[in-house]
Amino acid sequence: MIADALYARAAAAPDRPFLLFGDRTFTYGTMVALVECAVERLAGHGVTAGQTVAMLVGNRPGFLVAWFALSELGAIAVPLNTALVGDGLHYLLEQSEASLLIVEEEFRPNLPASTPQLLAMHEDFETAGFETADGGGRSPRPRLALPGGTANAILYTSGTTGLPKGAVIPNACYELAGAHMTEALGLTEADRILVFLPLFHANPQMYAVMSCLHAGATLALLPRFSASRLLDDARRFGATGFTYVGTVLSILAKRLTEADRGHALRWAVGGGAPPGVWREIEDRLGIAVRELYGMTETGGWVTMNTAATSRFGSVGAPRPDMEVRVVDGGDTPLPPGKKGEIVVRPGRPGLMFDGYWRKPEATVAATRNLWLHTGDRGSFDEDGFLHFDGRMKELIRRGGEMIAPAEIELALLNHPAIQDCAVVGVPDAIMGEEIKAVVVPRPGFAARDVESFLQGRIPAFMIPRFVETRPEIPKTATQKVQRHLLSDRLPTTVDLRPSKA
Ligand code: ATP
Ligand code: MG
Repeated sequence: MIADALYARAAAAPDRPFLLFGDRTFTYGTMVALVECAVERLAGHGVTAGQTVAMLVGNRPGFLVAWFALSELGAIAVPLNTALVGDGLHYLLEQSEASLLIVEEEFRPNLPASTPQLLAMHEDFETAGFETADGGGRSPRPRLALPGGTANAILYTSGTTGLPKGAVIPNACYELAGAHMTEALGLTEADRILVFLPLFHANPQMYAVMSCLHAGATLALLPRFSASRLLDDARRFGATGFTYVGTVLSILAKRLTEADRGHALRWAVGGGAPPGVWREIEDRLGIAVRELYGMTETGGWVTMNTAATSRFGSVGAPRPDMEVRVVDGGDTPLPPGKKGEIVVRPGRPGLMFDGYWRKPEATVAATRNLWLHTGDRGSFDEDGFLHFDGRMKELIRRGGEMIAPAEIELALLNHPAIQDCAVVGVPDAIMGEEIKAVVVPRPGFAARDVESFLQGRIPAFMIPRFVETRPEIPKTATQKVQRHLLSDRLPTTVDLRPSKA
């Protein structure tokens, strides 16, 4: 059970700080009292084991209280993306079969007309009142003992490639992620982990909350990411590390013009940092960037650059309890240096997701002979470090070449008049596919200059034939490009090589 470590720490050292939020400190002991309070309330609302309960709650202590309390009742938490509104929200509430929704006031206006029973979340989840209600002194509640394989949560995937899918995450998956992350980062009780990514996402749950509990460390929780305030917040809380996704690290790197020290930060862990950003953050902040590879379905990380073994530019080596291979279309493992699909097999039960909620066909399609087919492409190097190359679906197949859009995008982002961009393949009768760059221009941008700009920066066969301008690139809440929404050819498209048509 995910709260086991919380209860154990609270019994041994109740006054140690578990959570810092604004100017409030929640000790391990306080946290258990709050969880007990919430258990009673949720049980009063009829919450029982196996039931799904949705949460639409931002980054505040009550999120953790509600999640731990649901787990204590054996219920399945469904933390929803707080950016969702209307139909998108309706779909997930229905799909998850939630009979109760814990909602923070701020997000109530976003709810669709028909919703399950609502339970409002205010400060009430963050103030323990019941000890005094009957004069205190009640006997402790007997805790449930659930097998590790029991579902703890349904985490929806980011929805980068289509509708989000609900990955069922067992209790053991959380606990093991915490244990291995603690070791990989070398965490101790003295660590203070800064959390600014949304708590509904697997990243902070696995890499921050679970590892904090395992190490007996402290969380410093921020309502949201702010690049301009991040270092001030890190100093204020004495933070030693934080978790990231690629975009926030890129935004942060842009703000740092020179070495910025005078903080206690030592590490940052996450996935998707382009090598240039990785280096810049390490140099300017004087910290170690621990780039990893993972997905919601694997309950977090699969490979990682750890404190013990790291290779710049790679996504690290496999976790000790997971088998990772790179295979060809016939599932044959490929030798180092050869690119293929990344597949993952858990070393024991409960380590990864337990299928997609109410989508048996999708579950069967994702797994073959116990190997999860990630749909991602990569290769191992001679020393066993994995190199991530993008999603198979996003590869552009142009005249026999397999082209990963990320490399072209990185080159385009160096163009002074390009604010943002995404590269996709578009059907072509001769080449199979041609390359289209969708660009958010800055003043002075001219599509015709793109070709000469890219010459010498990327191989000639990777230079886009079409350049299309749009006011913005469609992205998920986790800031990933939704490439499947970019296939239409808008009138703003310029053909750089029209003679070939
Ligand atoms: P959906 O499955 O709904 O399309 P998603 O795959 O984006 O959404 P997540 O589970 O949040 O949802 O993301 C996992 C994916 O993120 C991986 O499959 C991979 O494509 C990408 N990813 C993981 N690690 C890295 C990394 N280090 N660098 C770049 N991309 C990464
Ligand atoms: Mg996915």
